[in-house]
Amino acid sequence: MDPVTAFLFATVLMMLNGAVLGVMHGDLAPALRAPAFGWRVGTLLIAIGCLVLALQKWLPPWVALPVGNALLLAGLVAYWNAVELFDGRPASHVRWLGPIALAAGIAWFTVVRDDFSLRVVLASIAWVTTLTGSARALWRGRQADGASSRLVLVALFVGLAIVMVLRGAWFGLRAGPETTVVDPGSWVNVVTPMLASTLPIIGTTAFLLMCSERLRREWENAASTDALTGLWNRRTLISRGASALEEARQQGKGLAVAVIDVDHFKSVNDRFGHEVGDLALQHVARGLRAGCRRNDLAARHGGEEFVVLLKDLDAASGAEAAERLRAALAAEPLVRAELRLELTASFGVTALTREDRVFDDLLRRADAALYRAKREGRNRVVVG
Ligand code: GH3
Ligand code: MG
Ligand code: MG
Repeated sequence: MDPVTAFLFATVLMMLNGAVLGVMHGDLAPALRAPAFGWRVGTLLIAIGCLVLALQKWLPPWVALPVGNALLLAGLVAYWNAVELFDGRPASHVRWLGPIALAAGIAWFTVVRDDFSLRVVLASIAWVTTLTGSARALWRGRQADGASSRLVLVALFVGLAIVMVLRGAWFGLRAGPETTVVDPGSWVNVVTPMLASTLPIIGTTAFLLMCSERLRREWENAASTDALTGLWNRRTLISRGASALEEARQQGKGLAVAVIDVDHFKSVNDRFGHEVGDLALQHVARGLRAGCRRNDLAARHGGEEFVVLLKDLDAASGAEAAERLRAALAAEPLVRAELRLELTASFGVTALTREDRVFDDLLRRADAALYRAKREGRNRVVVG
């Protein structure tokens, strides 16, 4: 295959792959549309850049070389901004100066001093800077999802940066007969568009997978957490509670459960309105989360009722832990502008016994203890 055909072939594949991303655009969550659009723009710019370089024989060199190179680099900048947007960071407009500077440099080494090697070296430096910038941006966000598609994309960016270093060195250090990147005599000229097109082609697929992985994670999160407080919801509590019970049984460890109900909460709503009521629930949730150990699980059971699973604890130590949570909540009022709202809660605590068969047995006993705490005057811990 000659380099012109290789460039044209890569262009067609890129255009088609970008079109697939376009077809999927409507299915993406609104937050993913901006990065996906940026990626498509990147693919389109690279495809047009390839086309311009492929057709350079039929265009004046002072147009084809600066414009083709600038378009390719602009595509890479669009990718870089797309991955930043994907992780919730702003796109940087300063990066667009890169393609402009590259166009100026390439024009200089075309018109003023025609030097193929220096053109390649210049373009390689620009590519490597942009590719490693994108790879670093993606790598920074890996903790958030750990998606393997992200790692594939990082590998593509890094792999291509290495190819560009080698290519820059090849043409920079070796005074060969080539005068353009489409000279058919050089195997590097044939291989480069093929390797470079892996990013817009395989990279676009990896980017799409990253988007779908993000959506899956968001759905999972929405199904397992409570939207108001961010604590685990009842569904998660029931399934995690059952596993915690199994685990405690197998390892011969304790398991305590505290059911918590905010005192006189109806009057908070009645006096200050539902919105302040919601703020109060978030405040209680924050307090519970802050007071729990890493292994514990705090959930919103419904309404103004919460449940905390206290791993490894028996009834006595479970009651102590609950007492700490109760005291912390009572000592920390909700303060918002003019408002200062003292909140207390009642706690019913119980721990796993031999007789318990299912997690619901613990919940029911803790609920009965909570009922007693309410009857005995609220703002207290009762063990059942
Ligand atoms: P007690 O001390 O006996 O628990 O009294 P209480 O007023 O807390 O109990 P009650 O069950 O009578 O009232 C619970 C209130 O919680 C009633 C309901 O409107 C309110 N509530 C439940 N869910 C929410 C919510 O998501 N947001 C707000 N703002 N209020 C809620
Ligand atoms: Mg209640
Ligand atoms: Mg209540």
